[in-house]
Amino acid sequence: MLDRHGAVLLEVPDDGEAGRPEVLRGDLRQVLLDSLPDGTVQWGRKVTGVRPLGGGRHEVTFADGSTVTSSVLVGADGAWSKIRPLLSDADPAYLGTTFVETYLYDVDRRHPATAEAVGQGAMYALAPGKGIVAHREAGNILHTYVELNRSAEWVAGIDFTDAATARAQVAAEFDGWAPHLTALITDGEAAPVARMIHTLPDGHRWDRVPGVTLLGDAAHLMPPSGDGANLAMFDGAELGKAIAAHPDDIEAALTAYEQAMFARTEPFHAEAHEIIDLCLGERAPYGLIDFFNGALVMDDRR
Ligand SMILES: Cc1cc2nc3c(=O)[nH]c(=O)nc-3n(C[C@H](O)[C@H](O)[C@H](O)COP(=O)(O)OP(=O)(O)OC[C@H]3O[C@@H](n4cnc5c(N)ncnc54)[C@H](O)[C@@H]3O)c2cc1C
Repeated sequence: MLDRHGAVLLEVPDDGEAGRPEVLRGDLRQVLLDSLPDGTVQWGRKVTGVRPLGGGRHEVTFADGSTVTSSVLVGADGAWSKIRPLLSDADPAYLGTTFVETYLYDVDRRHPATAEAVGQGAMYALAPGKGIVAHREAGNILHTYVELNRSAEWVAGIDFTDAATARAQVAAEFDGWAPHLTALITDGEAAPVARMIHTLPDGHRWDRVPGVTLLGDAAHLMPPSGDGANLAMFDGAELGKAIAAHPDDIEAALTAYEQAMFARTEPFHAEAHEIIDLCLGERAPYGLIDFFNGALVMDDRR
């Protein structure tokens, strides 16, 4: 953790004991895909609509006009799920925080001061309402989230298709910060991408609807806290186990899965809000420093 001038406020060495290993999203996706029989995933088949047929069956319509009838339908389709409206009226709401994503490549050679500041793991430079969070990835890459508490109108006012101007407008929010930190924005080598953070309500749940359920972000979209992908994969595994445990009674399987999933997810949702407040709230960066100092205690609680 650095201050805005690049001075180190806290350093947590990676002793390999932290218990939170990381994996690149693309690598993880490939591991999962490789575990499936060929043809399980049908690419380019966008769901455009779904309607109940009664008796727990649903008709799913795809963009190419084709349809299938489901005996069990699992909405694993993320924040803007097309399946969720069958179960819940909840819509994701903008949190008021946007992450602008940037990348630097070949960093040890081309951006040595910035690469050194980020180090071998993750770097946080935070202030109330704003921060630069960068992470070293395999292949000598720095992946950055520029985190800003800003209105939807502010985000809409930046033309992200004009990469140079967008970079300059985002960097202007960090006037006076160390140049080797703002280089993560100004020297970005891919067009910056704005990711407006949306969430479903805390404690989002629904009453049982025959033949359909949700998992992952479709069920419990929360602020990024490093747990979303874990929870989505865990949901999938638990749903599979519940179906295997009730092979002749799918409703019993979905009830068991959902009740456990609702209870499991709620504390993570609350903690995700706490973490984003630690990062960008009034006490930043000292809230997160306190959190890291007590992190082992939180991990032990899980
Ligand atoms: C900026 C940011 C940073 C994050 N960082 C982390 C992190 O470091 N660690 C972590 O664990 N989590 C992180 N998360 C959260 C994580 O990305 C999600 O929680 C996770 O991806 C949820 O997985 P999912 O499978 O439920 O949904 P998704 O990953 O959104 O997958 C949904 C899939 O459904 C497909 N789909 C959607 N609509 C349709 C349709 N109509 N028809 C067909 N297919 C459709 C999509 O193409 C996609 O493949 C981050 C989130 C954000 C926004």
